[in-house]
Amino acid sequence: FSRRDFIKISSIFLAGSTALSAGAAQAFSGAGSSVGDEGSKVVYSFCEHCFWRCGIAAHVRDGKVYKITGSDHHPLSQGKLCPRGTGGTGLLYDPDRLAYPLIRETKGGKQFYRKASWDEAITLVAEKLYGIKEQYGPGALAMLHHGYGVSFFKNMFSQIGVNKYAKPSYDLCCGPARQATVLTYGYPSDTPEGFDMKNSKYMVFFGTHFGENMHNTAVQEISEGIRNGAKIVVFDPRFSTLAGKAQHWLPIKPATDIAMMQGLMHVLISENLYDKAFVEAHTVGFGELWDSVKDMTPEKVSAITDIPADAIRTVAREYAFHAPAAFVHSGRRTNWYGDALQRIRAIHILNALVGNFKMPGGVVAFQKFPLVQPPPTHEHPAYEKEVHSKYPFFPDDEPSNTIASHEIVQQAISGEVKGLLIYGVNLPETMTLGRDKAIEAMKKAEFVVAVDVLPSEVTGYADVVLPECTYLERYDDLDNGRAFRTPFVALRQPAVPPMYDSKPGNQIAKMITEKWGIHGAFPPSVEKGLDKKLKLVGSSLAEIKKKGVLVMPETDLYRKPGEPLNLKTPSGKVELASARLKAGGFDAVPKYTAHPEPPTGFYRMLTGRKPMLTFGRTANNRFLGDLATAKENEVWVNNRIAEKHSLENGEYVHLKNQDGVVSEFPVKVKVTQRIRTDAVYMVHGFGHTSAKLTWAHKRGASHNQLISRTEIDPAMGAVGFQNNFVTFIKEA
Ligand code: SF4
Repeated sequence: FSRRDFIKISSIFLAGSTALSAGAAQAFSGAGSSVGDEGSKVVYSFCEHCFWRCGIAAHVRDGKVYKITGSDHHPLSQGKLCPRGTGGTGLLYDPDRLAYPLIRETKGGKQFYRKASWDEAITLVAEKLYGIKEQYGPGALAMLHHGYGVSFFKNMFSQIGVNKYAKPSYDLCCGPARQATVLTYGYPSDTPEGFDMKNSKYMVFFGTHFGENMHNTAVQEISEGIRNGAKIVVFDPRFSTLAGKAQHWLPIKPATDIAMMQGLMHVLISENLYDKAFVEAHTVGFGELWDSVKDMTPEKVSAITDIPADAIRTVAREYAFHAPAAFVHSGRRTNWYGDALQRIRAIHILNALVGNFKMPGGVVAFQKFPLVQPPPTHEHPAYEKEVHSKYPFFPDDEPSNTIASHEIVQQAISGEVKGLLIYGVNLPETMTLGRDKAIEAMKKAEFVVAVDVLPSEVTGYADVVLPECTYLERYDDLDNGRAFRTPFVALRQPAVPPMYDSKPGNQIAKMITEKWGIHGAFPPSVEKGLDKKLKLVGSSLAEIKKKGVLVMPETDLYRKPGEPLNLKTPSGKVELASARLKAGGFDAVPKYTAHPEPPTGFYRMLTGRKPMLTFGRTANNRFLGDLATAKENEVWVNNRIAEKHSLENGEYVHLKNQDGVVSEFPVKVKVTQRIRTDAVYMVHGFGHTSAKLTWAHKRGASHNQLISRTEIDPAMGAVGFQNNFVTFIKEA
């Protein structure tokens, strides 16, 4: 299937200096701004280094962004950013940036890229995508995406009836949490998740890594809760940053969380610690729930999880004591074993049992800013959204995904998908199905177009590479898709004009659409489109540019005594036992099932993040990578296991997984007592193979390369990848 070889993009097509063309500088009309310190101006926008999308203040002097700080006006940043957010200039001025459109050519059996004009590249992309759609139908085209500029490409594709798209992070992170919340409470969870952290007295976390996984507002609210005396409990095989703040760190055996949750439910019910009034008035399925946990005694659960029975009783009793100002958090990036939907259902049941729904310090339902979408005015109305996923609980009302991302990868491998548009996703290093399958999918596809900022691995497999400018150089759609305690709508606006010959996604999508002969699908300018939407709520682009955000007053989050919940579940109540799951042939209440154990001499490969890095978004960012802790990843090995394998702290080893896959680059050993003896841990996002990422190339080992097994959640299609095990190969 090697129709398409990987091409190392020649450096003559990459950015080498930070100079703007004179024309670009002149054409830039300037964004909404205020005067900053020392005569600089400040442009308010929002961050793109992770999905949290905090408000930023970009400080500009002499046409350059010289620092980025947290916007005081934006409710998710509240004047503060995580380290990654402040490091945005490292992306803007990255000398490795893609500078021109590139087209793949073959001459004399050799493949290479040549520089192309925008018109030539756009014409080729438009012809190829349309040709595939005409020959095979719209289902033969698909898009994998990550990043806020994707809305323009969804609009573009919808004009020719293509609506097969997926965001890999949905499968890997927020998807099961969203659907578990829908099944339990009747509404979807969001970012930030609906937990009243700052007012809580007792917060329980299962393996989620706040403080390493920098979710700015959540970290701020957890800190405020701790300052107000809240206790933290962390179940995690590894002593994480959050565990360092905990009253109880409980090093649970990996893959046994659901058993622990059932054990906690058992104690709450058997010791009459649950909120009987709430359960009787507002829930259904209590009898079915008790039937499923009555045998899960602390002693039995202790034998499964390695946590002492007394500790299980203590946590359950303390949790009930502090309720309703207590919660178990649903977590982020916790899709590990193919049972993520049921695992997060179990978390919601633990919350419902203590009656913390819409109570101070408990589970809350944040509200969205009521922005009205203008009706389409052009003669090619967008096609109806169609869900392509085969998983019964894949959502039909989620805006970013119509199919699970691994289904697109599999369809490209099988030949059902012939054309791929890959927007902002470095597919070979994305945990969709591991590196090998991602590369196989791109090689099998007839046509691949990559829209990206950097020459990451994915661009080497594309037929056409279209260089997008960074989030600091463009407008995107308004951010109003999320709910928070103060509902808001936020603006992304350019702080400086696009560098080199890069373009904003909104222009790229519009140019392709117009090549198809479709005019009017996009507003005459992105500014006019934004202004029109804002006028519908009595504001304007000129107004929102000043602070980058419109914010409503804080909403009332708490229920009144006797107030009916009126939930949009089949029963109208909180579903401890889910009628929909039962009707679909799945367990109505979550049940623990054992997962595969590591072979002798192998250790379960756990993964997470560093505070300075967001995987592909920041991999090549020198400003962040230069920080001592972000230069490379390490493999954490328990000191007893290190002794067994004669490993020294700081030595480099290769890792080999259960299927014989050996890491391409070596990784440094960190010998520590902060991890269990049956697991190792490494941060994802290192071990890049693209030599054109001159900072990231060959630093550390790729976690993704070592994923050769995945477990797919049969209910909603999320990908679990922590059933891969590794051992060590010492350097000769
Ligand atoms: Fe940016 Fe950090 Fe906020 Fe994410 S949490 S949006 S990386 S500042």
